Amino acid sequence: MKLDPSSRWSLSLRVNDPRNLKLKPVTKQIGIDLGITSLVTTSDGEKFANPKNLKKLHKKLRLAQKSLSRKTKGSNNYQKARLKVARIHAQIKDSRIDYTHKLTTQLIRENQTVVVEDLAVKNMVKNHKLAKAISDANWGELVRQLEYKAEWYGRQLIKIDRYFPSSKRCSNCGHVVEKLPLNIREWDCPECGTHHDRDINASINILRMGTRVGVRRKGTPTKKAAGLAVSVCGATVRPSGSKSQKAGAMLAQLLRRRKQKAPNSDVKESRAVTQVQRREDVNLYRTPNRIF
Ligand SMILES: [Zn+2]
Repeated sequence: MKLDPSSRWSLSLRVNDPRNLKLKPVTKQIGIDLGITSLVTTSDGEKFANPKNLKKLHKKLRLAQKSLSRKTKGSNNYQKARLKVARIHAQIKDSRIDYTHKLTTQLIRENQTVVVEDLAVKNMVKNHKLAKAISDANWGELVRQLEYKAEWYGRQLIKIDRYFPSSKRCSNCGHVVEKLPLNIREWDCPECGTHHDRDINASINILRMGTRVGVRRKGTPTKKAAGLAVSVCGATVRPSGSKSQKAGAMLAQLLRRRKQKAPNSDVKESRAVTQVQRREDVNLYRTPNRIF
């Protein structure tokens, strides 16, 4: 039982919920880019804005804080003003939590696989200019919810390396531009001329990278990883005609064959798989501009 600063009591209970919440599997996979202008942008091109009422509440909060600062400490009026500030803080927190829950539930229910960037939110908050916007956006909580809801509903959440240049890479041809300042929301690829929305392009790259990680880890294939790999090796994932695409197709073929055979009889094949993988890796180092 807790009394919060806005003088609200809350009671927490812990119960074991025996229900099985697992949903019917779906085939849809999605990459999401976390941002400030749009809280979440999906690889489908959908954008979810930050909750609108926060701005209004922040304005209210500033006024209340100002009024609090003018009161004599310890006076009755001070106590009243303090409570008002605390209540607005609580309101902001509630509407943020409510919004995040609705959003994460929707994303997890509609998609079998969700790929996000593994963000070091704490480090980013040290950047003062972005700090308020980032903590407002509540990215850490968003990813945490995606994680446990994926578990509940039988979905998969993949986190990718946060140093992966998801924004600067052209999702059409794989070209990586050198600079892409934060204020540039749309750009044209100098290689292939494709016009990109910054966040949608990033989320498409995140989806590809996430599902690709599944391929590379597949050295010791689990059911999940193998299934994932096959769908990843489809033509949609890599630029057509590239070496790595051919390698990917070979890999998928090998995997399919492998699945049909007994697990002990495929020593040769598993060697072949690692060779293909190695070739892919070499490819990756030789042309750093094109990871796909
Ligand atoms: Zn391009």
